[in-house]
Amino acid sequence: MPIDTFLKSLPEDSTRHVQPDIEFLAVAPCPFLEDDQVGYQIERLSGHLGTLPDTIRRAAIGYSLYVRQLDVIQEQEATIRTLCADQCDRPPVGCCTGEHHVLLSLADILISQPTQDALHLAHVLTGLQRREHDNALGQGMIPAPGPCHCLTESGCSLRLFKSPRCLHYLCPQVQRALIAVHGDSVVGFLEAMHETCNTVIRGLDDFTSGQVIAAAETLFPH
Ligand code: SF4
Ligand code: SF4
Repeated sequence: MPIDTFLKSLPEDSTRHVQPDIEFLAVAPCPFLEDDQVGYQIERLSGHLGTLPDTIRRAAIGYSLYVRQLDVIQEQEATIRTLCADQCDRPPVGCCTGEHHVLLSLADILISQPTQDALHLAHVLTGLQRREHDNALGQGMIPAPGPCHCLTESGCSLRLFKSPRCLHYLCPQVQRALIAVHGDSVVGFLEAMHETCNTVIRGLDDFTSGQVIAAAETLFPH
């Protein structure tokens, strides 16, 4: 499902923060995205989330830009796409073995005691997940029976709002395949992905990882 179709579908609450949000988010460049992609994504999400506090709105937009970069990185890495689509050792659902889209479960909250901002962000991202999933079904994706309700016959319905858990998980089969292709040069990327996948979310900075992007830039110079 094209990302822009989903972004276009978002209702607008207020556009008054669009320009300040573009300027604020420009300090964290998105090396794997085109400028016009970043601009449109900020514009649409800023308008949709315009009534939220600046901190939460910008964190949600920043998260979506981070997720989209991971999406591009995985598109560049044919090994991951091919394995997951055609050669997964764990058919039929692969690693989608539960409702892993949940950002902060009750157990997570009790154990990690996240900040109010982290809880607020998780709540906002959950709402955006719902919208993205509904939009995907509206565009023709067909739900697949399985342990996660975001699973469809053509894969995950989420492109911009996957959870950190789903986003960073690389199974041993994929890790071995990446090492076979890239050798030692992929180790930094694998370590950063693994560490972020297992990060306990306490604050806003725990949803994303600059180390993952930096390691991917080393692996896929462009
Ligand atoms: S990451 Fe591994 S387990 Fe998950 S779908 Fe891909 S190949 Fe299968
Ligand atoms: S959200 Fe998507 S990637 Fe994550 S478990 Fe569900 S279907 Fe799989």
